[in-house]
Amino acid sequence: MSIRKSTHVALLCLCVVMLLVLFATCSVHANHDAADEAMSSIRPEAIRADMRFLSDDALEGRGTGTRGYDIAAKFMATQFESLGLQPAGDNGSYFQSVPLRLAKPDETKTTLILTRSGKDETLSFHKDYISHGNPALAETSVEAPVVFVGDGVTAPDQNYDDYQGIDAKGKIVALMAEAPNFESSLKAHYSSSEVKLSNAVAHGAVGIIFLYDPVFEQLYSFNEQVRDLSFPGLRWLDKQQRPNDYFPELKGSAILSLEAAKKFFAGGPHSAEEVFAAMKGGKTMSFAVPVIAKIHNVTGLQNVMGRNVVARLEGSDPTLKDEYVVYSAHLDHLGIGEPVKGDSIYNGALDNASGSAILLEVARAFRGMKTRPRRSILFLSVTGEEAGLLGSDYFAHYPTVTKSSVVANINMDEDLMLWPLRDIVVFGAEHSSLDAVVQKAAARLGLSESPDPVPEEVVFIRSDQYSFVKQGVPAIFPVAGLKSDDPKIKPSEIFKNWEETRYHQPQDDMDQPGLDFDAAAKYARFVFLCGFMITEDPQRPTWNKGDFFGEHYAHQAN
Ligand SMILES: [Zn+2]
Repeated sequence: MSIRKSTHVALLCLCVVMLLVLFATCSVHANHDAADEAMSSIRPEAIRADMRFLSDDALEGRGTGTRGYDIAAKFMATQFESLGLQPAGDNGSYFQSVPLRLAKPDETKTTLILTRSGKDETLSFHKDYISHGNPALAETSVEAPVVFVGDGVTAPDQNYDDYQGIDAKGKIVALMAEAPNFESSLKAHYSSSEVKLSNAVAHGAVGIIFLYDPVFEQLYSFNEQVRDLSFPGLRWLDKQQRPNDYFPELKGSAILSLEAAKKFFAGGPHSAEEVFAAMKGGKTMSFAVPVIAKIHNVTGLQNVMGRNVVARLEGSDPTLKDEYVVYSAHLDHLGIGEPVKGDSIYNGALDNASGSAILLEVARAFRGMKTRPRRSILFLSVTGEEAGLLGSDYFAHYPTVTKSSVVANINMDEDLMLWPLRDIVVFGAEHSSLDAVVQKAAARLGLSESPDPVPEEVVFIRSDQYSFVKQGVPAIFPVAGLKSDDPKIKPSEIFKNWEETRYHQPQDDMDQPGLDFDAAAKYARFVFLCGFMITEDPQRPTWNKGDFFGEHYAHQAN
């Protein structure tokens, strides 16, 4: 309702402006026409073709650090070059090197022993628990009493603290992987393992055990997590060879299966059933568990080199051209893994050959404009997303342009082009002035805006825009909404089915039914328009006053 009201006011103002400065409005219209022309150049077939190449078996699933990924990266760089975009990587190249650390837990030497009333129970790797090992040290050990700290969240801004009344100093903390029902992006933020680990360390913990619960089992089952151990665990390394998000204070880590988690509470003040029931009712409990845990992590470590691909379109405004709008899409997928239905190549057609192909088509649309946009644009194709947003996090920490010159990020990942596009969900928009941009772009393309339909999936922290947010850059991640004009087409069912049968499986390939490239092109036009509006605005985007992410991270941007 308030949007309609403000539209009326805007129309009224426009009339006055038109009378007073006719010339200026003409140039605004000319600009609109230029945007329309650029958007009409976006072709569904071009998206399909690039997607087909990038998700071909020949590229072996584009696993980070593999030959298949390298071919994909060369393809992106070659496309950027043929468009006449400038190289914006290291040393005048299109590539930014991303030093990575491969950490593989040694399943035969890693051990977890729980001692209850003097009795030892040795848990079995794969069945009862797994560990991702330690990214910095080949061998670590810890033995300490365990405290259960619910979701392990301390959120003063929400008046919420799972550690209240708990002494975690020198203890191993056991916690769940979720977060309380805060607003969607805050819930996502507090569910991130980096935030939980850092909070555990702040409370003096020396080790960490994640516990499965029935809700998380539904979202990402323990068996899936075991299967995903076949994909490499990676971190990026800083100049001192320190892995990102590494907490040396934590000398042991493990993840317990749902069955093991149920047994874990035995003999304590609250049973697993009580804990799970409380969680279901939106509450968590925290209490000491009469268990001493002994974790011995053994990890195989190896350094590998990954790379991002970066290209630049120079802006036309003499001042604004020194500022950048960054379009990002992750190029990597999972590579080759455990076979599913006889196929072991995880092609990642939607995840994220789609976003990479759209990145290219958006670049082409900008490049085809008679007048270049006022701000400069970076087209960034990142590595290591599937392993934890690594390429984007590295770039956001060490951009190849001055850090303070990055004004906004627009991220594209897993475009669900599986039904005609009617509405759009834009993660991150509500935190900054980008919200107004999104509203204008959506209205112009006849798209409606919808709220996050799946807050429990914590999408806000699950793709590369979060890396930019953490460095203080206003960022958005638009995805297809779940509305439909046709009662026979039910996007929420299609989406659910896709998640169950194709997401992160070899069946996310070009043979999957229902790919709608017109929907992809419409999405690309929306993404183009958002970026175009940001490039033209004399004011750079700003965080909303008092916004959580602005308050926590804006200082990082300088
Ligand atoms: Zn993915």
